[in-house]
Amino acid sequence: MANLYLTHKCNRGCPFCFARKVLKESGGNVDELLTVGDIKALFAHFPGQFREIGLLGGEPFLYPYLGEVLELLWQQNIMPKVFTSATNPLPETLRDVDITRHPLSFVVNVGTKDSYTGEQYENLIGFFAKFHAVSSLSYTILDLDADPSFLFEVIDRFQLLRSVRVGVALPIYKGGNQYVDKQDYKKLGKFMVRFARAAHEKSVILGMDCGFTACMFTPTEVGALQRSGVRFSFVCGAAIDIGPGLKAWNCFPLFQLHKENVLESKNVNELIRKFDANMEAYFNHRAGIFPECDDCKYYKRQACAGGCKSFKSFGYA
Ligand code: SF4
Ligand code: SF4
Repeated sequence: MANLYLTHKCNRGCPFCFARKVLKESGGNVDELLTVGDIKALFAHFPGQFREIGLLGGEPFLYPYLGEVLELLWQQNIMPKVFTSATNPLPETLRDVDITRHPLSFVVNVGTKDSYTGEQYENLIGFFAKFHAVSSLSYTILDLDADPSFLFEVIDRFQLLRSVRVGVALPIYKGGNQYVDKQDYKKLGKFMVRFARAAHEKSVILGMDCGFTACMFTPTEVGALQRSGVRFSFVCGAAIDIGPGLKAWNCFPLFQLHKENVLESKNVNELIRKFDANMEAYFNHRAGIFPECDDCKYYKRQACAGGCKSFKSFGYA
């Protein structure tokens, strides 16, 4: 799945935000956006190559052409997956959408109730009232002493899909956001196991995003994740985000490292190969974030990618 980075605009300002450097490179021009013309050119260049596309930012609800983009995706038989905080008023274009006729889904990044203004929380409630049947939650771990069980209350109260996409706050290349330091990864592993067990009790499935490492868990803890039905892998690979001017990057943390003009690749696989080759060359075949990665059995078996490469910009390994 590729993602379209629609707009820099956002009203949340999460401390772990991975996207800050994208706005910074635009010279702070919050009005810069991916145009509908860009997206049409993308589909004309890569016909029939996408089954699902993520719409993100910034905040997609603040993108003025969301309706046009959704129509374009439906015309191309592409499933839109919208990544949102759902704390802005519902865009006009979504008010009349019939989800039985137009396939789409939402991944909603939520915080505790006290992280919202009264108006933001009202907007969130209004959003869930309409779209709960096609909405799941997303949670980014930053505070290892936090209690994520509020997510289960939100799922029950609004009757959302019973899955949570779990990410760990990763560093932006060369810094600029808050993240979980890799020295705390054993503690992160224990946090995940507690979270997984609690989710299992509530019949909620957790799916782990990229950047987790195998060695943050003991073998017993990996067993606990398995028994809790967690979808886990210890991967790092091209997510492919496509932004203004049809420039693409591997993933937000590595935004500064390398960008490709998507129209210079013949197909999506070629684009992914270019990013993989660039990463291989840049990291000089030493992709792991710990000195131990080079001799690690999990790394050699490709069971662990060695963590998020963005850590390497700090010269630790
Ligand atoms: S490859 Fe590196 S990060 Fe992954 S398990 Fe081995 S030592 Fe840990
Ligand atoms: S460098 Fe790898 S692990 Fe880090 S965000 Fe990018 S794809 Fe994910």
